[in-house]
Amino acid sequence: MAAAVPSIEKAAAGIKSNAVLDFLRKPKQLLINGKWVSAKSGKTFETINPANEEVLALAAEGDKADVDEAVKAARKALEGKWSSINPHQRAGYLLKIADLIEAHADELGTLESLNNGMAISLAKGMASGAADTFRYYAGWATKIYGETNPSDPSVFNYTLREPVGVCGQIIPWNGPIAMFAWKIAPALACGNVSIIKPAEQTPLTALRLGELLLEAGIPDGVVNIITGFGETAGAAIAEHPDIDKVAFTGSTEVGKLILKASAGNLKRVSLELGGKSPNIVFADANLDQCIPTSLFGFTMLSGQVCCAGTRVFVQRDFHDEFVDKLAKQASQAKAGDPLDPKTTIGPLVSKEQFDRVKGYLDIGKKEGAQPKLGGEVRNGKGYFVDPTIFTNVKNNMRIAREEIFGPVASVIPFKDENDAVLQGNDTTYGLAAAVWTNDVSRAHKVARALKAGTVWVNCYNNIDPISPFGGYKQSGIGRELGKHSIELYTQIKSVYLKLN
Ligand code: NAP
Ligand code: MG
Repeated sequence: MAAAVPSIEKAAAGIKSNAVLDFLRKPKQLLINGKWVSAKSGKTFETINPANEEVLALAAEGDKADVDEAVKAARKALEGKWSSINPHQRAGYLLKIADLIEAHADELGTLESLNNGMAISLAKGMASGAADTFRYYAGWATKIYGETNPSDPSVFNYTLREPVGVCGQIIPWNGPIAMFAWKIAPALACGNVSIIKPAEQTPLTALRLGELLLEAGIPDGVVNIITGFGETAGAAIAEHPDIDKVAFTGSTEVGKLILKASAGNLKRVSLELGGKSPNIVFADANLDQCIPTSLFGFTMLSGQVCCAGTRVFVQRDFHDEFVDKLAKQASQAKAGDPLDPKTTIGPLVSKEQFDRVKGYLDIGKKEGAQPKLGGEVRNGKGYFVDPTIFTNVKNNMRIAREEIFGPVASVIPFKDENDAVLQGNDTTYGLAAAVWTNDVSRAHKVARALKAGTVWVNCYNNIDPISPFGGYKQSGIGRELGKHSIELYTQIKSVYLKLN
């Protein structure tokens, strides 16, 4: 049975941009070998606008057969033209892509907001950030050095830093444009080729970025985009015998599956997984900055952020004052129309995520936590959830241990520095952490003691391509961004040359 054509007028009501509407009206196909093609199975799946639950688009449901085609095209590109272009030319492609993203940032941001539900101001910011990421890695393309080594005088020894090869890149729905840039920009800078799979909930911006990559002149097969499901298309990438590296961002549970699947041909694996990040507030913190930033820390993107500061540890002496102030500020931050520039919290991405968050709100109450604010999801059209602040939370409750991925914070008191660090580190995750204090020495001591890949002092959610991002413990393997992505996407060859 042919799937019904979506009603763009209903799903994208209020959108005036012709660029966005024209894109939505086009068929959503796979990008393989520089061409847009339907899935071999002919199947498609629905893409929903989470603000109104209408069908925005039908995307091609790629699976193993399509992944096989994409891998062949990528391998051919890797061994063909792409390997013969010089680093300046690679930098040139990345700069062109950055310029195109910048020029289309409003359009990309609007599409992201329609598809993911993210507040439009944030979505446009993320699109501009993606342009920065491409520019940053354009700079690296011409700065990937080998070494000459102090060898025995009878030989000359040097190293070459070469691309890893065919990369499978599997990304989540929570920051689709940013994740596309974090994966594609360094991979291309280092001379790799890619098969990228966006999340089933959010295929749209990756497809539009695919068009921009073609416009920038990226050779056929260098970047292939397979929309589809994790269990089929994603798994086919993870276990493919001719993919050399897999880079994954998503849940810890699926990260473990990826690691297992990659064992078949011993792929290199980098994983950026979940978190349950502590945001530690000492009594000497500047509350004028700490309150709004802590709120942003757990409500940015409706809390659907791997590094969200969902465990807010507050020094016992001023716990009640802090909770009152945070709740007062949070009560003014209702979830709203993501396309309204004033909105800071849009809907959750999907019905599945809405049900999951609702489930955790019930679990929290059953565990004995008290909602100081919120505690319920909103009824009606769209997956809207206003901020919830739980008090009376123990660090061993499920709501304090498991990733909720909604605008839900647990406030937990602590006694002193030692107690803050012990409780903060008492988690299986280690993606990020924050500390708020005016005592410089304490800030450095606590930053050192926290077992997390990123620590923010008197700020939250700062992320910049110049600096590594990734997790301790079960929050991942490897670091992305900065020079660390260059490590992930290159391998080293040592060459000995006999001197006669
Ligand atoms: P997920 O399943 O881990 O999704 C991430 C990506 O992996 C998606 O592209 C997904 O495809 C793909 N995938 C799923 N199963 C796969 C498999 N067996 N082999 C290869 N790829 C596979 O995450 P989710 O289901 O969207 O969300 C579940 C929970 O994960 C969330 O509630 C949240 O707690 C957490 N999460 C964390 C992050 C993060 O940044 N750390 C991001 C997203 C979600 P499909 O889209 O088809 O599933
Ligand atoms: Mg999934």
